[in-house]
Amino acid sequence: RMKDDGGGSYGLYTPSMDQHKEERAVLMGELRGALDRGEFALHYQPLVSADTGEPNGFEALMRWQHPLHGDVPPSEFIVLAEETGSILALGEWSLRNACHFAATWQDRTLSVAVNISTVQIRHSNLVEIVARALSDSGLEPSRLELEITETAFLATTNEAMSVIESLRRLGVRLALDDFGTGYSSLSYLKKLPVDKIKIDQSFIVDLPDVSSDVSIVKAIVELARTLGMTTTAEGVETVAQRDCLRQIGCPEFQGYLYGKPADEEATMQMIARQSRRFEPRVVA
Ligand code: C2E
Ligand code: MG
Ligand code: MG
Ligand code: MG
Repeated sequence: RMKDDGGGSYGLYTPSMDQHKEERAVLMGELRGALDRGEFALHYQPLVSADTGEPNGFEALMRWQHPLHGDVPPSEFIVLAEETGSILALGEWSLRNACHFAATWQDRTLSVAVNISTVQIRHSNLVEIVARALSDSGLEPSRLELEITETAFLATTNEAMSVIESLRRLGVRLALDDFGTGYSSLSYLKKLPVDKIKIDQSFIVDLPDVSSDVSIVKAIVELARTLGMTTTAEGVETVAQRDCLRQIGCPEFQGYLYGKPADEEATMQMIARQSRRFEPRVVA
């Protein structure tokens, strides 16, 4: 992680580190104006029902279309944005955009998932921002899902917990993202008011060959069910992984097997294709 190698290192100096720091500083500066310059976009990836193979909804994923560097992936700018505070404006923009877009979908049963940073929970009036995004867009609260990473949850205080509870009272759903990469204890999981657990792709990648991963995924799916939560497998890329997950009983899949994150236009086309299938046939 970028934020781990900054400052305070003795005798570890290398020119490449210096260069790295410089690039980082430049990127940080550019990040500040990037939103106003319209350089951000949201791409959407389907979350697919294991039963029907059809989308239950889409996850909004941020893209920085940098004029020189091309598409800068979120792995390179979210941490920077969190450190500089830009994430507050960026996160609000994501929420508002995703809600407005989802409100235009023909299929009113589809939900939209938006990633939330822990910084937004701590340093903004997130509840008000979410409420406003919903009312301005007209999106039904039950169609919005907020994804919060397990590590972010871990750092929660009572204050953060009350934000999370207020969000739920708005009627939105909450998902615990990248589950298995943090250090959640079972008692902690029991207390969390979440509707869904997203199983990190590191547990999916070696299915079905690595039997310990099969056991782990099975245990997570069953534990979640016991706690009244649903599960999504992240990073499903192969038919073999899908078949294994079906057998385990995981109800929702996300991954390149079903579709890579796509821009708004491609997403609209996918939704239109999908809903046409359910239209009653016109008899001549
Ligand atoms: P995430 O929320 O866990 O999103 C899933 C990531 O896995 C996405 O990466 C997606 O493109 C990738 N992915 C999906 N299916 C597959 C697959 O089959 N194989 C592989 N190898 N990868 C797959 P992406 O778009 O690069 O986003 C990375 C992370 O950045 C996200 O992880 C999320 O934590 C964060 N992020 C993205 N957009 C936002 C945002 O608007 N706000 C915040 N706070 N974070 C965001
Ligand atoms: Mg996510
Ligand atoms: Mg995830
Ligand atoms: Mg992930």
